[in-house]
Amino acid sequence: MSLSEDLKQDLIQNLREHINGSVVITDFAPLSGGSINDAYEVKTSAGSFFLKTNAADRHPSMFAAEADGLERLNATKSVRTPMVFGHGETDDTTWLLLEFIGDGERTPSFWHHFGKGLAQLHSNSHAQFGLERNNYIGSLEQINTQEKEWSTFFIQQRLEPLVKLARDKKRVEAGMAFRFERLYGKLNDLFPKEAPALLHGDLWHGNFMCDPESKPVLIDPAVYYGHREMDIAMLHLFGSVDPDLIEGYTAEKPLEKEWEKRTELCNLYPLLVHVNLFGGHYVQEVEKALGRWV
Ligand code: ADP
Repeated sequence: MSLSEDLKQDLIQNLREHINGSVVITDFAPLSGGSINDAYEVKTSAGSFFLKTNAADRHPSMFAAEADGLERLNATKSVRTPMVFGHGETDDTTWLLLEFIGDGERTPSFWHHFGKGLAQLHSNSHAQFGLERNNYIGSLEQINTQEKEWSTFFIQQRLEPLVKLARDKKRVEAGMAFRFERLYGKLNDLFPKEAPALLHGDLWHGNFMCDPESKPVLIDPAVYYGHREMDIAMLHLFGSVDPDLIEGYTAEKPLEKEWEKRTELCNLYPLLVHVNLFGGHYVQEVEKALGRWV
């Protein structure tokens, strides 16, 4: 997508509110890695910034929700997040302007700090599971209607809506929906009781970075108060997790026994997100995970 003069002017105005003196944009360098939006390094006379854009008629309020999520994470002072400079809509484009995070080396202490910081993040609690606002996971709307019980929340706000969507899209058979029904009856006993914990909510390995000081940085969150094993599980979704991360986490906040077994249970949610967005082999992955429980 080409960036209009109006958008450039809005970005400059936005930056002027945060930076003393004038700012001149020298380049927009496209970045790869994102799955939904266009991303750029905005090079300016005052350094680099990170910009995401999308067509305004797609995914309404996605960047407002992302900015809100980043600010909630930032307020916990646990794991670094990019500072939010602003978001808005210019012509037909929505945009989000963030602090630019450079790259660093993922040392053992990076993983340890990450684990420790994640445990600190998860120590932020709330009376109920959910959030006062909805947001997005990938490009799917994430409904956060609050519930007192984790199992009720996980069923009604996470699994059920995505199983229904997958059925409507004819991505899964009726048999799978029946198996989910059988799982719902067991969930309350399968999860250990935990206080609602503030989660990143979409913590696959593409959603954290390592800054030049080898400190972890959380990006692209889908925050809500949930069972903390959801974040831990999602780190395992597409590969293994460095043991130093788990060590750093458990030194700060021990995990309940058999948490490893429950990663597949937790990951039914992100797998259902993938079934709805991409279909294909993710359907078999859900089948396999379900098979362990029903
Ligand atoms: P999308 O919303 O499309 O999934 P992401 O938020 O994942 O996009 O960002 C796309 C890529 O841009 C990331 O994989 C990461 O490499 C890079 N990125 C994200 N945020 C920043 C940032 N604040 N500074 C520098 N690079 C970033």
